[in-house]
Amino acid sequence: MRELWYDATQVHIGGEWRAPDGGGQLPLENPSRGEQIGSIARGTAADIDAAVSAARAALEGDWGRMTAVERGRILTRIGQLVETRIEELTVIEAMDVGKPLTQARNDVIALARYMEFYGGAADKVMGDTIPYLDGYTVYTLREPHGVTGHIVPWNYPMQIIGRSVGAALAMGNACVLKPAEEACLTALAFVALAEEAGLPPGALNVVPGLGEEAGAALAAHPGIDHISFTGSVGVGALVQSAAAANVVPVTLELGGKSPQLVFDDADLDAALPFLVGACIQNAGQTCSASSRVLVQRGVYEEVVTRMGAAYDALLVGPARSDLNVGPLISARQKEIVEGFLTRGADLRIAGQGQFAEGLPEGGYYVRPTLFADVPADHVLARDEIFGPVQVVIPFDTEDEAVAIANGTDYGLVASVWTGSGARQMRLAKRLRAGQVFINNYGAGGGVELPFGGVGKSGHGREKGFVALYGFSQLKTVAAKHG
Ligand code: NAD
Repeated sequence: MRELWYDATQVHIGGEWRAPDGGGQLPLENPSRGEQIGSIARGTAADIDAAVSAARAALEGDWGRMTAVERGRILTRIGQLVETRIEELTVIEAMDVGKPLTQARNDVIALARYMEFYGGAADKVMGDTIPYLDGYTVYTLREPHGVTGHIVPWNYPMQIIGRSVGAALAMGNACVLKPAEEACLTALAFVALAEEAGLPPGALNVVPGLGEEAGAALAAHPGIDHISFTGSVGVGALVQSAAAANVVPVTLELGGKSPQLVFDDADLDAALPFLVGACIQNAGQTCSASSRVLVQRGVYEEVVTRMGAAYDALLVGPARSDLNVGPLISARQKEIVEGFLTRGADLRIAGQGQFAEGLPEGGYYVRPTLFADVPADHVLARDEIFGPVQVVIPFDTEDEAVAIANGTDYGLVASVWTGSGARQMRLAKRLRAGQVFINNYGAGGGVELPFGGVGKSGHGREKGFVALYGFSQLKTVAAKHG
């Protein structure tokens, strides 16, 4: 098998690799060492314009004429090709994002699974027939939006491409993808594999570049028919405003401050790995990271002690050494997380991970830190940190726990650990979040499970079958035949 080929210094438009307009380049960094190891294309508004035209041409050509069955087969083949490249993609992602190898490998497996899922679903999206007036036959059709824009962040490039581009292509849209400037390599590798699997030129175009240049140009482009944005709240609001000027629908997958609620009757042995793991995965740089743990007073000290011990055992090191926690993505992210640690200086530290021996100098490492007895209105308990920093908050009653859990601007994910079936059902309704987990956290991240937020965590749903409705629009046909 030949080596997976893509060119990070170029953009990919209409099935061709080409230098970005103006020839600009941005540094490619390895966060494990804090070193520049190459460069990536600095796509511009002109490249976005060319990508939108190429996508439009694909819709008017082979791609637009393809049946749902054929689209599904191509997606399935993409998934199979991804699977044949698991180790190469794992190493690329681990190096680019700084993820420990095992975590990067899980992302590749998820990308393949998204392609398999949306490949299988492509020909199963159906309309309705509607009983209506005498002499009419009325039915609905699900049609693609047209050209969809996808702006993705650096923390889970492959998973987010899988869930948004995968669903959009399944519905027959043509896509323009703007990966993050901090990590765009697997997006480029993905389009190479997709075309090898038979995706027609222009059905997927990839333009790496700066958010305020290529990203802003994509959000504001009048030729875009739908935008899927995953990233920060501030930029999400900018993207939504830009799209509003063109009256274009937007899906926003934003941040979170997701709580886990641990009641006195919880199975602590089952809960413990999730209480910690749900925060420190990907060095805490996960939108659905559980950065708050709310614990009922009867088991509070036991949970704090056991979580603290788990933190003390965490080892931090470069992606390739595949330890518990890798580096943060960038010097800027490290500065942000260290700023939060400073603001927590007068809080009780219940546990702290260790740097592995021989840590590369210059890498963006921080020690994972668990704070206990944190007031619910403390900045560390309210703001998204996006680093391996977790707070434990005590509570007495169920009502108090719900008030704290629902008391931030966010509402992405929540989990409840309790043996009481009645409480499980009550809290599943009362918690303000797009996903609620009972006696687990994340449910293994299944691609089948609709995902998205309420409040400042965003709106619209990706993942699962329901995402196919988001990436399509409904047409009603009313035929009068007498
Ligand atoms: P970010 O908003 O800075 O960047 C995300 C993407 O937007 C990047 O591709 C970036 O280039 C682009 N961008 C930046 N400025 C832009 C602009 N003015 N116009 C258009 N595009 C622009 O986010 P980040 O800091 O890189 O990522 C972290 C944030 O993303 C966190 O808040 C995290 O919670 C969130 N996130 C959410 C999910 C989810 O599914 N809900 C998943 C991953 C990350």
